[in-house]
Amino acid sequence: MTADVIVLGAGSAGLAAAVTAAREGAKVVVLERHGFAGGMGTASLVHTFCGLYLLGEGPPRLANPGFPAEMAERMLRATGDDGPVRMGRVWVLRQHPVEFVRIADELFRESGVEVLFHSEALRAERDGDGWTVEAVCRGQRKVLKAKALVDASGDAVLADLLGAAAERTESALLQRPAYVFGVQGVVEAEEGLALAGRIVDGVRRGELPKEALGLHFRSSGRAGEIFGSIDLSGAEEGDYDPLDAGCLSRLEVRGRQVASAAVDFLKREAAGWAAAYVSHWPVRAGVRESRRWIGRHVLSEAEVLAGTRHADDIALAAWPLEFRETTRGPKLRFPEEDRAAGIPLGCLMPRDLDGVFAAGRCLSCDHGAQASLRVMGTCFATGQAAGVAAVLAARGEAVEGTLLRLRELHGSPE
Ligand SMILES: Cc1cc2nc3c(=O)[nH]c(=O)nc-3n(C[C@H](O)[C@H](O)[C@H](O)COP(=O)(O)OP(=O)(O)OC[C@H]3O[C@@H](n4cnc5c(N)ncnc54)[C@H](O)[C@@H]3O)c2cc1C
Repeated sequence: MTADVIVLGAGSAGLAAAVTAAREGAKVVVLERHGFAGGMGTASLVHTFCGLYLLGEGPPRLANPGFPAEMAERMLRATGDDGPVRMGRVWVLRQHPVEFVRIADELFRESGVEVLFHSEALRAERDGDGWTVEAVCRGQRKVLKAKALVDASGDAVLADLLGAAAERTESALLQRPAYVFGVQGVVEAEEGLALAGRIVDGVRRGELPKEALGLHFRSSGRAGEIFGSIDLSGAEEGDYDPLDAGCLSRLEVRGRQVASAAVDFLKREAAGWAAAYVSHWPVRAGVRESRRWIGRHVLSEAEVLAGTRHADDIALAAWPLEFRETTRGPKLRFPEEDRAAGIPLGCLMPRDLDGVFAAGRCLSCDHGAQASLRVMGTCFATGQAAGVAAVLAARGEAVEGTLLRLRELHGSPE
């Protein structure tokens, strides 16, 4: 099978990259190990889009035009919500994972992207002017060829397969993982402080594991349905390693144990919870940070905090640095005067490879900058830019034209 562009991963970034590249006229194939798109936003039940709107006072203003704006619009139509919600100093858009999957199916169909679900990339190598990628579907190998690649795997899988420059934050500092699960049957329940108080009580009495202290619930927007989220250390035995099957397996089991214990406890103790039950587990626990590409520009924490702009910015980072290095809740750091920093094209371009582009949470930045850039609103924006850049590369045109093309298509951000 031959394509112009292969996109690895159909999360927020891969969806944006593939649809954008196909709309630019390229033949695009997406490889995705799950049976649906959305990545963390669906498989891990992460249920709000952050980073879509600029920081600052006043009404919400979209940070990046084009695909991020279109996703916001489509999601609002699907959920029936009026608009984003203000939470402290930020705007967030509630999203439902079921709708995300449906919207992604529609976008792939409308734009003509060829999607290969149930396909996991195992090997990649240079092949003349282009690339060969080998994927496996239920034990069957498939070889695909393309002129350009986009790595939207979240884990910089292609960097590993191609032996390219990549980096990982030391285990102790990695953003902690979290386990998000669905609950139904809750009616006119206690919320917020009252519920938190009960959980603290349960932990004190030894009826709940101490990880339950990091548990919080949020309405999904659908009657009787809520999502629970538990921050976990990931270090159930030894160091946290988000790329190790043993570590991830312990994380999944621990997430289910803590969630089950908490729901059983609240059924007994909390008003409105008597008929509650866990209605769905995530397909996989949520991983915030793993491996990142080292690109021609490594966006730094200092640049994001200073709201730095570059001549070749392809998107804006509109979310504060959200550190989750412990399980004791987020620590937010806001940029100076709430100014959104620019993400230059060099963050999408590997340091020593041509024709390959990174997007989403694995693009080239340091640990601190990733604490801002990883949110889905920003992933849509960097995915969109990677889609345009990959099409230019596939046509043999200068990828520096990405910015100009993005402006022609959607105007400038902000
Ligand atoms: C618990 C938690 C809470 C969060 N909260 C928020 C929030 O409230 N708002 C927000 O905007 N962001 C939030 N984030 C961050 C955000 O969800 C992720 O950083 C973002 O979704 C990453 O998108 P991505 O496309 O880069 O990667 P992913 O969503 O990880 O997608 C990568 C895709 O690639 C596929 N893939 C990987 N390797 C292969 C392979 N070898 N072959 C085939 N397919 C492959 C995966 O299956 C996946 O579908 C949260 C993250 C977590 C974990």
